[in-house]
Amino acid sequence: MRSLVWFRGKDLRVADHGPLTEAVASGELIPLFVLDPFFFDPIRARELPHRMQFLLDSLGSLEARLADLGSRLLVVPGRSVEVVPRLAAEWKVDRVLAHRWVEPLGRERDRRVGEALGRQGVEFQLFEGETLLPPGSVRTGQDRMFRVFTPFARAAGARLDLEPVRSVPSSLPPLPRDIAAMTVSIPSMEDLGLTRNPALQPGGEPHAHSRLQSFIKGPITTYGADRDRMDLPGTSRLSADLKFGTLSVSTVWRAAAGAGQGDSGRRYLTELLWREFSHHLLWEWPELLQQPFRPDFAGFPWQQDEGAWRAWTAGRTGYPVVDAAARQLLAEGFVHNRARMVTASFLTKHLLLDYRLGEAHYLKWLTDGDWAQNSAGWQWSAGCGCDAQPWFRIFNPVTQGLKFDPEGAYVKRWVPELAECPTAFLHEPWRAPNSLRSRFDYPNPIVDHAFARQRFLATARGHLGRTGAGNPV
Ligand SMILES: Cc1cc2nc3c(=O)[nH]c(=O)nc-3n(C[C@H](O)[C@H](O)[C@H](O)COP(=O)(O)OP(=O)(O)OC[C@H]3O[C@@H](n4cnc5c(N)ncnc54)[C@H](O)[C@@H]3O)c2cc1C
Repeated sequence: MRSLVWFRGKDLRVADHGPLTEAVASGELIPLFVLDPFFFDPIRARELPHRMQFLLDSLGSLEARLADLGSRLLVVPGRSVEVVPRLAAEWKVDRVLAHRWVEPLGRERDRRVGEALGRQGVEFQLFEGETLLPPGSVRTGQDRMFRVFTPFARAAGARLDLEPVRSVPSSLPPLPRDIAAMTVSIPSMEDLGLTRNPALQPGGEPHAHSRLQSFIKGPITTYGADRDRMDLPGTSRLSADLKFGTLSVSTVWRAAAGAGQGDSGRRYLTELLWREFSHHLLWEWPELLQQPFRPDFAGFPWQQDEGAWRAWTAGRTGYPVVDAAARQLLAEGFVHNRARMVTASFLTKHLLLDYRLGEAHYLKWLTDGDWAQNSAGWQWSAGCGCDAQPWFRIFNPVTQGLKFDPEGAYVKRWVPELAECPTAFLHEPWRAPNSLRSRFDYPNPIVDHAFARQRFLATARGHLGRTGAGNPV
């Protein structure tokens, strides 16, 4: 049996890799990665610089791991829908094995590849693994998708009966001798016209495992209390590893569940179920990437305000937590979850700008930028998404800062012009006495919180009243 194992950017590992394990158990193995211009054309790559850096790191690491184990990763440029069927025929493979993707883009690609392979008599087998449970398999008693997280989490938790994590094969069969291929090297950042950002997390399976170990030995013990603190390293920072599959989600689940840690451990597992919820949602409702989940939000009168958009993206709104988040994003390709919620609420509710603008900006700059989680996160924050989050909940950036960055360490790190601002005024520097304010060059708030709150509520009430399903308060 000759198997082509097609690695596709969401499973860049050798541990707990279903297709690899299956191929090794039954004969010859050809590991393949396709440099599809959809992602690797330099113009496209510029739209995802941080994700691309992490992906290239992880791909390099995968290539090295496969070589250590006795095989070789073949890297071939071209459109997946053409390359894979062509190579399957040239290399006379019996089957192509890969992990399923939840995104509509990947589903359509796999449909086309599957059809072409089918015509050639080659089996195309998709393995689960992007999620803990097969997407679409967690449904209500009436066989509908869940629209609210808590009952989804309860149902998913009850169904979780994970298979043991697959171990790394002790060795891999060498490439079959008759394989001749026009392979290329993994491109560098420079090849794609990108500049390396040294502040990003390094990608690759060994780094992912050491991040997981550090979390399990340390922050998980206080995760319940610290996960919302923007100033503390209280979370796992595994989101990019889960996104690119340098760790399988089952591996992370098992490690966290095995660590015990009572409420803190359980709280962490709940966050993994939020990830699960987003992916199942996108599977059930692919329109998530284009439309608000709540139909009554369609046609919402978002404003156009170039100046406000520029201030938000550059971190010059005058609200320190919002500005810290904007700058952390560009510098590190990461933003703390609490800061993501505050800043997304601010963009949509204080500035009345379309959530899709923020969603696209985040997808461009986040290293963990993920279609499902990002869209769900933005829609949740804007009030138009799945789950019971009410649209009229508006985060106050000042009180959020005081509560979750009490000493202002997060703000001071990312907004250094406030270094001289006394802690008492760090989250509302406009209230500092004039004698102090002259010491820091920082803008006044671009919008007043109370005014913005009322404006959003009135706008939303008006719109939702018109579209029918309003829930006016
Ligand atoms: C506006 C907005 C946009 C977001 N965009 C993304 C995105 O593109 N990619 C992404 O991975 N996460 C996204 N999230 C969710 C969350 O902010 C990140 O997963 C988290 O901050 C990553 O840090 P961590 O790995 O240290 O998280 P931890 O707190 O350690 O959580 C562990 C894992 O659980 C998952 N998770 C945690 N919180 C959430 C959540 N609210 N929703 C879904 N999954 C969650 C992530 O996979 C995370 O790695 C977004 C949230 C918001 C509000």
